[in-house]
Amino acid sequence: MSVGLWQAPQPGDHDTHADVAIIGAGIIGAYLALRLGERGRRTVVLEARHVAGGATGRNAGLLLTGVAHSYVAALQLYGRAATRELWSITVRNREAMIGWATRLGTPVRRCGSYILACTARQAEELRASAALMREDGFQAEWFDHDPLGRGFLCALGNPQDGAIQPALLTAAMIRQSGAQVREASEVYALESQADGVLVRARGGAVLAQQVILATNAWTPLLVPEFAELIVPGRGQVLATAPAPRVLERVCYCDDGFEYFQQLPDGRLVLGGYRNLAFEQERTYADHTTPLIQDALEEFLRRHFPELADTPIERRWAGTMAFTPDSLPLIGRLRRDERIAFVMACNGHGLGLGITVADELLRLLEGTGDGGMFAARRLMQEAFL
Ligand SMILES: Cc1cc2nc3c(=O)[nH]c(=O)nc-3n(C[C@H](O)[C@H](O)[C@H](O)COP(=O)(O)OP(=O)(O)OC[C@H]3O[C@@H](n4cnc5c(N)ncnc54)[C@H](O)[C@@H]3O)c2cc1C
Repeated sequence: MSVGLWQAPQPGDHDTHADVAIIGAGIIGAYLALRLGERGRRTVVLEARHVAGGATGRNAGLLLTGVAHSYVAALQLYGRAATRELWSITVRNREAMIGWATRLGTPVRRCGSYILACTARQAEELRASAALMREDGFQAEWFDHDPLGRGFLCALGNPQDGAIQPALLTAAMIRQSGAQVREASEVYALESQADGVLVRARGGAVLAQQVILATNAWTPLLVPEFAELIVPGRGQVLATAPAPRVLERVCYCDDGFEYFQQLPDGRLVLGGYRNLAFEQERTYADHTTPLIQDALEEFLRRHFPELADTPIERRWAGTMAFTPDSLPLIGRLRRDERIAFVMACNGHGLGLGITVADELLRLLEGTGDGGMFAARRLMQEAFL
């Protein structure tokens, strides 16, 4: 992310004043624009690509309770109270996401989910997770066989989970927000001034009283404080042509490394296998690769042999943001507390995005401290 001297407007130029400049028009930036619009804040959204041009428009659309770790694994990492809180957050988020999609008229299905085990270790972990989740008051159906009959070992089900169309929902939020949106407006510098933060973007600068970074995996390219904290990870996906119905629920398996759903029009969407080439997939490039696409096709043939001859209609990739403890980051920069941020849902931004954005709004209003997502947990010297 660099801009040539000849490409940039003259220093000092800015054509817009804003109460808030949101950088990034993914699901999180769009939702923030919506809520700030309701509060009467003059908001500008600056987006390098186009609305939903990042992970939000490239994911698999699954709206799941929980995170990539099983309940048992999360418990080992975060402790029981924090795990219970994390799962509650995703339940609240799921309901909020379904509520907004319904209100804004974008596609949403409460079709239920299965988390499927592919190995004996995963099966044992899911079985123990189901028991602990019930103890903690969460819905957890247990299937000690494969409810799909397709070669998995067992499953943990949740009938309340579902799927959304994330790009349409994001675009609808942006429209509803009333914010000024500038696409193809990559932000390349943030300059702290006495009268605001000067946000320099291709296409023009904005002087804002408050800046919110909703820039997800790309954040370290703009703000060096995040260099050690956010690692990009590419996820690859394919979609078949419409096929007869083989699946009702959305599915997550193999510790979350593969995920799939069948859309109402019959297309089967399948993503994953980042774990076959972690190093190669640590990239911002959004092209697909034969290694991973072949593995996805092989998965399809193995578990859905009746779709073996169904053409693959589309292949794509998107970049997720991963953190050292797999939790999102919320906070303000210590060097200029007018610059706030919310990002890095570790591949679960549909499952977490609204609630983490709400947490940031509470932080900015002085009614919250970022809770378990406060970035200062990882780097106190850089963040408030
Ligand atoms: C392949 C794949 C599958 C996934 N599947 C699921 C799933 O099924 N369920 C789920 O819950 N989650 C899933 N995710 C994760 C989910 O998509 C993300 O967590 C979520 O979309 C993040 O939203 P966001 O708004 O934080 O970031 P993004 O959607 O990535 O938006 C960030 C935006 O900021 C913009 N930007 C960055 N830098 C700048 C800059 N300097 N100037 C201006 N703009 C900038 C980018 O262009 C981008 O549009 C998946 C992700 C991928 C990639």
